[in-house]
Parts: sequence; C-alpha cells; structure tokens
Amino acid sequence: MTPLDLGTVILLHKTSLLAGSATLLLVWFRTERPPAVAMIAAALGWLAVGAILAGLGETRLIPTALWRDTSMAIAVGAYTLLWLGMRKLDRPVGALRWFGLLTPLVLAIGITTQVFSHNEMRALAFHVTAVLGSLLGGLGLYAHRRAEPLPSRYPLALALFACAAIYGVQIPLLAFGLATPMTLAQGFALTMMLHFAISALVVSFVRERREELYRRVSLTDGLTGTLNRQGFHAQVPAHLPHGSALAVFDLDLFKAINDRYGHPGGDRVLIAFARVIERCVRPGEIAARVGGEEFVLYVPPEAARHALARVEDIRVSLMETGVNWKGETIFVSTSVGLARCETAGGVSREVLFARADEALYRAKQHGRNRVAQACAVANETLPEARAA
Ligand code: GH3
Ligand code: MG
Ligand code: MG
Repeated sequence: MTPLDLGTVILLHKTSLLAGSATLLLVWFRTERPPAVAMIAAALGWLAVGAILAGLGETRLIPTALWRDTSMAIAVGAYTLLWLGMRKLDRPVGALRWFGLLTPLVLAIGITTQVFSHNEMRALAFHVTAVLGSLLGGLGLYAHRRAEPLPSRYPLALALFACAAIYGVQIPLLAFGLATPMTLAQGFALTMMLHFAISALVVSFVRERREELYRRVSLTDGLTGTLNRQGFHAQVPAHLPHGSALAVFDLDLFKAINDRYGHPGGDRVLIAFARVIERCVRPGEIAARVGGEEFVLYVPPEAARHALARVEDIRVSLMETGVNWKGETIFVSTSVGLARCETAGGVSREVLFARADEALYRAKQHGRNRVAQACAVANETLPEARAA
C-alpha cells in the first residue's frame, strides 16, 4: 500500500471540509433555508478555517499569536455548531445555545494559561473536542429516529459515530506518544471521506424530509386535515375483505348553511365535522373527506360489528355539536349510507362505496339525519360504480 503523505492528506482534509460546507450552503440557499443546514455548513467551514490557520502557523507563515489559541477556539466553536446543527435538524436548540460561549472561553483559557502551546496538548484537546462534537451530533439524530424515521438518519448518525471513533482512537495514541505521521494521516484520510459522506447525507436528509412533507400534503385534505380521496386510496385496500364496512356521510342541506353563513362559515362546519369523526373513530378505522361535504369511513372486518354503532355515534355527536360562528351557533346534521361486504371473497372498494352511496340516497329521501343500510353485497361489479 502506498504510504499516505501527511501534508497531502491534510490538504485534502481541508478540501473535504470546504467542499462539504459549500455543498450545504448551496442546498441551504436553494431550499427553504433550513437553519440547521446553515449551522452544519458553518461548522464545516469553520473547521476548514481553523485547519488552514493551524496549517499556516505550523509552517511558520503566520505568527503564533495569530493561530495557536484561535484555531483551537475555532475548532471548539465548529464542533459545537456541528452538534447543535444536527440537533436543530430535529428540534430547537433551546438553552443549549449557551454552549456557544465555549468558543470565547477556550480562547481566554488558551491565552491566559498557554495550555495550547504544547503541540501534544493542542492535538489532544482538538481530538477530544472532535469526539464530543461528532458523538453528541450522532446521538441527537439517533435519539429522534422513532419520531421521524427518515432513511438518511441512520447512515448520517453512523458517519458521525465513525468520525468520533476515528478521532477517539487517536486520543490514546497522542496521550502515550504513540501517534505517528502515518497514524495521523490515516485518521485524516478516513475523516475526510466521512466529511463528504456527512454533507451528502445531510442533503439527502433534507430532501427526504421535504418529499415526506409533499407526500403527506398530497394525501391530506387542506381544509380539514383529514385524509383526502388519494389518502383514502393509499390506506384502504382496493379489494375489501369479507366483513368490512364502508359508510358515506353527506351533510344535510349544507348549501343552505353556506347561503346563510357564507362559505367561511360552511368551512368552519366542515372542520367541526372532521373533528367529530376523528373523535369517534377507533384505531384501524379510516376516515377521509372525499368530496365537498362528503366523508367516508372504512371499518375493517375486526370492528365491523361496531360499524352501525360507530356511524350512529358520529351522526348523533355531530347533531349535538354546535359550531360557533361569529357569535352564532350553527347546528348541522348528516345522512349516512352504510354498506357491509358479505361476499366470501370480498368485494372491490368501488362496489361497496356505490352500495353505501345508494343507501345514502335513501337516507336523504327518507328525511335526512339518519343512517340507511345497504342490502347484502352480491359478488358483482357495478359498471356505474363511483370511484371512492
Ligand atoms: P343534501 O342534504 O341533499 O345533501 O343538500 P346539500 O345542500 O347538502 O347538497 P348540495 O349538493 O346541493 O350542496 C352541497 C354544497 O356544498 C354545495 C357546495 O357549494 C358546498 N361545498 C362544497 N365544497 C365546499 C367547501 O369546501 N366549503 C364550503 N363552505 N362549501 C362547500
Ligand atoms: Mg353532497
Ligand atoms: Mg349535502
């Protein structure tokens, strides 16, 4: 294996920091400018600045006073930013922002005690800082994995843990005087690759989060926050199993509510209806707004014996819910069509929906504010079935 040249590796190491920082800055600029990305970009940029200063100092191109304590303080600031930036990807930094004071503190300690005048001491302090910053950053990401399980989260946390491990291995070598240019070069070469990985993974993380947001928005009704038709289709099987039930709700004389209270008043009623449904449904049951004032509820076979009770519950709760609107209380009712799948092999979602819709029509005809049940579903397909 070709021995690594420490000078070349250090140069590439700085390049990796600058390239990572520039990549993240570009992403920050081209997206909704997430502060976390700016913080991580700044962290990598600061690390590069610190490394450049130290490099210039060690080759005596700049006086000691300009670089020794400064580069150490910059490294502390950069790793604090890296840790807090990773945290900020998920939640606010809060009082942890006070850790920013570590930078001037380290600078003051360096200047007053001259502790960083020893090369070994400075290298040791840098490596401990790097281990802590990378480890805390990785732990923060890992701790939030259940709340938002984005695919990039794990490799990003892993890359940070790997950084911490590589810097960590150097600590005993430095402490016991076993570090050689070769071990240092190997460490820098590995962390250099990890810097590229970290910036690429932060970019993926931000992209995955945005895609997940768009996906959720595309499946959600913008007014009520319940699932929309696409969301319903995404969650309810196209072929419904034996025993399952579908209920279609349609608000009664809703046009009159719009006419009397205006469209915003009508919207408020729709939102209230969505909340009533949400309150009544149980896990496994899926509700969605599939039209203007039309909602649908899917009840899986395990709960289908409760379907009528559930639907009645929703109807009565809505009737009893007064919707406050500009000092007035709006009362509204709903008619419901309920259809169950009694065919052994199941039935298509569209067929069951059409049956429920027919029953809904009967509920309207018979005076509204009631539930009508469809007769047993035969093993058939209805050419005129409406898409649910
Ligand atoms: P019925 O009891 O027979 O269902 O009578 P209806 O008045 O509820 O039925 P119709 O279909 O005539 O009226 C539905 C109304 O719903 C008409 C439409 O303007 C209104 N609508 C549809 N979408 C929205 C919406 O997003 N917001 C509001 N405020 N109104 C909506
Ligand atoms: Mg309608
Ligand atoms: Mg209606």
